[in-house]
Amino acid sequence: NAKTHYIAELRGLEEGENVRLAGWVQRKSELGGIVFIRMRDATGSVQVVLREGNLSEQELTAARGAGIEASIIVEGSLRRDPRAPGGLEVIASKFILVGDSKDFPIKPGVGEEFLLDNRHLHIRTTRMRNALMIRMEVMRATEEWFVNNGFVRVEAPTFVGAAVEGGATLFEVPYFGKKAYLTQSSQFYLEAAIFSFENVYTIQPSFRAEKSRTRRHLTEFWHAEAEMAWADLNGMMDVVESLVKYIVEKVVERASDKLEALGRRMEAIEGRFPRITYDEALELAKRKGAEIEWGEDFGTEVERLISLEFDLPVFVTHYPKKAKAFYHKQDPKRPEVVLCADLLAPEGIGEIVGGGQRIESENELISRIVEEGLNPEDYKWYLDLRRYGSVPHSGFGLGIERTIRWIAGLPHIRDAIPFPRTPVRLYP
Ligand code: ATP
Ligand code: MG
Ligand code: MG
Ligand code: MG
Repeated sequence: NAKTHYIAELRGLEEGENVRLAGWVQRKSELGGIVFIRMRDATGSVQVVLREGNLSEQELTAARGAGIEASIIVEGSLRRDPRAPGGLEVIASKFILVGDSKDFPIKPGVGEEFLLDNRHLHIRTTRMRNALMIRMEVMRATEEWFVNNGFVRVEAPTFVGAAVEGGATLFEVPYFGKKAYLTQSSQFYLEAAIFSFENVYTIQPSFRAEKSRTRRHLTEFWHAEAEMAWADLNGMMDVVESLVKYIVEKVVERASDKLEALGRRMEAIEGRFPRITYDEALELAKRKGAEIEWGEDFGTEVERLISLEFDLPVFVTHYPKKAKAFYHKQDPKRPEVVLCADLLAPEGIGEIVGGGQRIESENELISRIVEEGLNPEDYKWYLDLRRYGSVPHSGFGLGIERTIRWIAGLPHIRDAIPFPRTPVRLYP
């Protein structure tokens, strides 16, 4: 075995215990002939002290020559020293340079574009590792919530034949002489699966050819989606609220050290999420100076203004029919609006969840498809779902990276995913 312990395990050991560690050089300095290496592995970092007398001349020369991010194996004894960062150090008795690293390009002061071009190296930094560990906890908590609440996981295809969210953001791919598209949402396939399992979910990528460059859009993002037979709009919002609270609670519980290292103060959420209508939100945004007409969907800036008015995530419900996709059910009391809800995260983040009640009648669905200028032929199988035992049902999609961006307090959505895809980035 290359190592006897991970660095995080050292805290539990006795002074003087012998350990063998394997990892990478984070920092290096020399003082009075003694070499100090700050060594990291997946779990943390520790100071290694390399002294003449304890090591051969070759080992010391190798240690002195090791570059930042060189991979190393160190054997030594554990010493408690309040002056060392973390209060621990390892007095080395053996040093092996496994893979040297010359002039590691990720340095303080390099620009944002450079870091993105070198993302494959940038993900080794403490900040990126903390952000990605929070991502892992968000994914885990999301999956857990669904499993704990009896939802059945159903995977949907990536290649699809028709749009869910409108043609403007469709990626077209050649498919054996035909046209196929990359999926924008798994919603329709989940709707098909409610007849088998009633409450279903998936967590998988969605693709959107986003033309505008924003801090909250990727062209490939991870989408947690659910559909629930028999649920109405309020039932859907109750589910979203419970899920989002659970995610925050678990991330705070399991990754508090990572949040703290990122300078983020986040606590579990108490209290119900406020629910306001589109009309109320519109008034609010107008009072804050937004120039927007009734009927338009809210964009990033308007959502920012609205979310800044609340300390908690806020549901905005009953958007105008023309602002939303064709499958939304109209409000029977007010047919110009639909039974939908977006969840806006606080601090100006804006939409992290979009959802609502789906049309359950075949005729109504056909007339909405036609009204949107789409071809009912393209939605033949989707219409079948209204022909054979149709039920009232609702569902939603939660953007994993948007949720991470909010919880971890990241300035840009791209830091919530290891290898971001945007209109201008396909590398690495
Ligand atoms: P927006 O209004 O910000 O463009 P949307 O209303 O088009 O989002 P939905 O179709 O409602 O998005 O998708 C459900 C969720 O998926 C959104 O609430 C958001 O969290 C996430 N999402 C949508 N588009 C993107 C994207 N391009 N990048 C990252 N996440 C996205
Ligand atoms: Mg969009
Ligand atoms: Mg939206
Ligand atoms: Mg939406």
